[in-house]
Amino acid sequence: MIAYNLEKLRKELPSGVKLVAVSKFHPFEAILEAYGEGQRAFGENRPQEFASKAVQLPFDIEWHFIGHLQTNKLKLVLPYASLVESIDTLHLLEAVNAWGEKNSKTISVLLEVHIGAEETKQGFTPSEIAAVLMMTGDFPFVRFRGLMGMASHTDDEEAIRGDFARIKALYDECRAAHPELADFDQLSIGMSDDWRIALDYGCTEVRIGTAIFGNREY
Ligand SMILES: *Cc1c(COP(=O)(O)O)cnc(C)c1O
Repeated sequence: MIAYNLEKLRKELPSGVKLVAVSKFHPFEAILEAYGEGQRAFGENRPQEFASKAVQLPFDIEWHFIGHLQTNKLKLVLPYASLVESIDTLHLLEAVNAWGEKNSKTISVLLEVHIGAEETKQGFTPSEIAAVLMMTGDFPFVRFRGLMGMASHTDDEEAIRGDFARIKALYDECRAAHPELADFDQLSIGMSDDWRIALDYGCTEVRIGTAIFGNREY
């Protein structure tokens, strides 16, 4: 089933859009099955599970951290993450930069935008994002790669489109205002239920779990 789901997704995704397979709560075997089909980018949202998978699974997997990150958990995530997609406070950003300095590693990040999804309170508001991007010089060990966002959890397609349109407009504004951030070029929006819609709003990455691995058992 995993192989079939991946193949179907790959046929529909435009070539410029990266597929991150969200494997949270799924066992190693599921990840290895997707890996066997050539999938290399995986996303996890819990630090302990992230670290345990990253150290035990093939070394050439590209691990994306997509969950809430507390500053006392950085050592479980930052050594292995190729992209931390869920930077949601200035405090976290400062801690990530300090960790990077101490460990001589530059950490690639996305800033999480809070626009849709009422059920999560995580993420910066658009004006906070604008403020953070004025201070990037204070974070030499952080590479600002773009924005991550979630649409409201609803069946109302117009509401989802509204959320994605606002995130995309913010992304475009950030890029226009900060040409010095040469690799601020990633827009991570779109999950199992709304990734087709996200394609209409210029996403460069989709994060898909259920539509690849099936339902999660919490
Ligand atoms: C779980 C999760 C996903 C994937 O959700 P699905 O609906 O299973 O595709 C994407 N992004 C984030 C931030 C998540 O936590």
